[in-house]
Amino acid sequence: MKLLLFLAVLLFTLGRAEAQEKKLEFSTTQLSGTVYMLTGRGGNVAISAGEDGVYIIDDQIRPVTTQLLQAIRKISNKPIRFVINTHYHADHTGGNETIGKAGAVIIAHDNVQKRMSTEQISIFTKTTTPPYAEVALPVVTFNDQISLHLNGETATAYYVANGHTDGDSIIHFPTSNVIHMGDMYFNTMYPYVDLDAGGSIQGIVSAADLALSLADDKTRIIPGHGPLATTEDLRNYRDFLIKAIANVQALIDEDKNLQQTIAAQPTAEWDEELGKTWITPAQFVTFIYNSLEGIQRYTPPVAKTE
Ligand SMILES: [Zn+2]
Repeated sequence: MKLLLFLAVLLFTLGRAEAQEKKLEFSTTQLSGTVYMLTGRGGNVAISAGEDGVYIIDDQIRPVTTQLLQAIRKISNKPIRFVINTHYHADHTGGNETIGKAGAVIIAHDNVQKRMSTEQISIFTKTTTPPYAEVALPVVTFNDQISLHLNGETATAYYVANGHTDGDSIIHFPTSNVIHMGDMYFNTMYPYVDLDAGGSIQGIVSAADLALSLADDKTRIIPGHGPLATTEDLRNYRDFLIKAIANVQALIDEDKNLQQTIAAQPTAEWDEELGKTWITPAQFVTFIYNSLEGIQRYTPPVAKTE
């Protein structure tokens, strides 16, 4: 009986996933003569397409690679020469295997290659990710920054240590005046800080600071998740982070433990606006608290007993 119930739930879930897959539409926004933002399923993608060919920043989740490639083909028929992964998460690297097999060179920070080539355990998402196939791994890695001189501009990926993970880059397209933030920026929602993979809230602030130093008032900011943003949006996000961190630090200074800090609701003023999409206020406070206390893993808040 239990098995039948399990099968029924499984079929229902698969059916729903399939229905969602069919509904999925990729939306592309042109941001300059050569740079586009693409949204579909997974992290937002940047595409540079021009006379030298195509390269992309991130490639979504694996099951949608065919749709992703179709959407890119609508912009350019030239081959995808490079993929830069902003970090190792599967919703930003899922297309690597197919696109790598087709001949694209995959580029990422050293730590992305390390994490993708070994099993990863996340306490937060309660998942274990096996090593990726070799063809999906970055073949060019860097420890600080790397530039691509293509399509009429020099785009640079800058490593920012210990932010969303321990391998994040933000990518600046100076002529197009576009910055791809990877998951250092979740627009309109609380950010996910992957403490289990070397993330910290301080690094997220550093990434916002770096991006703001590269931006002017007209820069288009592509967040890892959420809608396209302006420089002012990013500045507000940075200010919110600083205030939220100060609120949590004040409670730490009063010797509050994690549970007491969560109970004091230090992010109450943003919870309605930012805490309903994915990361909950309690999870976000845990990210900040553990970052400030130097605890490099996610410690789940005790569940409510009501
Ligand atoms: Zn991520």
